[in-house]
Amino acid sequence: MKKNYGDMTKVLHAGWKSDSATGASSLPIYLTSAYQFKDSEHAARLFALEEDGHIYSRLTNPTVTAYEAQLSALEGGVGAVAFSSGQAAFTHLITCLCSQGDNVVSSNKVYGGTVTLLKNIFSRFGIETRFVDGDHPCKFEEAADERTKLFITETIGNPLMNVAPLDTLGNIARRVGCPLVVDNTFAPYLAKPLEHGANIVVYSATKYISGQGTVVSGAVIDGGNFPWEDYPEKFPTLAVPDPSYHDINFAKQYHPAGLTAKLKASIIRDLGGCPSPFDAWFLHTTISNLPLRMERHSQNALEIAKFLENHPAVEWVLYPGLESHPHHDLAKVYLPKGASGMMAFSVKGGVEAGKKVLDNLELIGHMANLGDSHSIMTHPASTTHAQIPPAERAKAGITDGLIRFSVGIEDVADLKEELSRVLEIASK
Ligand SMILES: *Cc1c(COP(=O)(O)O)cnc(C)c1O
Repeated sequence: MKKNYGDMTKVLHAGWKSDSATGASSLPIYLTSAYQFKDSEHAARLFALEEDGHIYSRLTNPTVTAYEAQLSALEGGVGAVAFSSGQAAFTHLITCLCSQGDNVVSSNKVYGGTVTLLKNIFSRFGIETRFVDGDHPCKFEEAADERTKLFITETIGNPLMNVAPLDTLGNIARRVGCPLVVDNTFAPYLAKPLEHGANIVVYSATKYISGQGTVVSGAVIDGGNFPWEDYPEKFPTLAVPDPSYHDINFAKQYHPAGLTAKLKASIIRDLGGCPSPFDAWFLHTTISNLPLRMERHSQNALEIAKFLENHPAVEWVLYPGLESHPHHDLAKVYLPKGASGMMAFSVKGGVEAGKKVLDNLELIGHMANLGDSHSIMTHPASTTHAQIPPAERAKAGITDGLIRFSVGIEDVADLKEELSRVLEIASK
């Protein structure tokens, strides 16, 4: 696959040509747990990583491998590893890079599941997370020390749609000597974190990559641009001979894809959060029209953001594609093809007005998901954030009337008609 092909060509052609055994042109679902060895020599060579091939589907599977190659090509990485969920992707990555006594510096504007994983699970194993204001890169530098093993940010934060200052964060990570990990779940295809200082990209493929609200899945993409070999003491799992795997030095032997090799051969082997071949096949199909969908999501969202901004029942709208968003300039740099489909807006009249909007929807769904082709709304003050006292919610920017809107790819006129109707009811 030529590196200079466009993204649409890459998603349609990377990772799969046809089946060498049958000639089948579409990717088959290799629903198999194991693979027949040719003889005992062949088996031994596979186990010693001396020959490429499949052993057992927790480690590798041809359907999963094809999907991973497609994902890596789209992102501009040197390799990708698919997982059973976005949560599993982060769990395996952090387990790969961190040991007891190490720490992570993370933006405080990341997905709630990422926060609770770091705060409640990894802390129990002596891995501390220092949450800092993601809008101020200097806070990352202040919080970091020689035991900092990664920085975490999201391209677009939730629910206020903050756009991360990626290049600045990348420069700081380089100075500190740790990889910058960017969760790009909100902006696949639109944002290219690896071209802006990131070393590793994480996805919840459940959202836009699927686009159909069907499967739960995740991925890590290896940028191949972090010098693990320069830090053998800091990253021993990658840059020191591995006694759990024939003393392989993954960074050296698999350069520049040392992280991909380590995650596959050792971390997923031991932790086991592999995806189902069926899910990988499904995602391989849906990703082949991802660029078209992301462009349509962005067009629809921009038109709707402008419409809401001018509506008398609406207090404010936060969408990075709008000039009024505080990070519009960052969006122009990092999201040049469109600012994605995610926005937040606040209806006048607080919790009650918010509930009225949600309760009168016909076309737009009301559920805990995002990035689907179908439009979805959620009302944090009466659901996900209801347990948090109103004053604390307000401090985090979550006002009582805030509605998170994942704008789908329906005909935009129909979405506007629905919005006019529900806002009219809410303002009564
Ligand atoms: C949903 C989500 C996750 C978690 O992914 P799952 O596939 O639900 O495990 C992580 N990060 C972001 C930004 C998300 O939206």
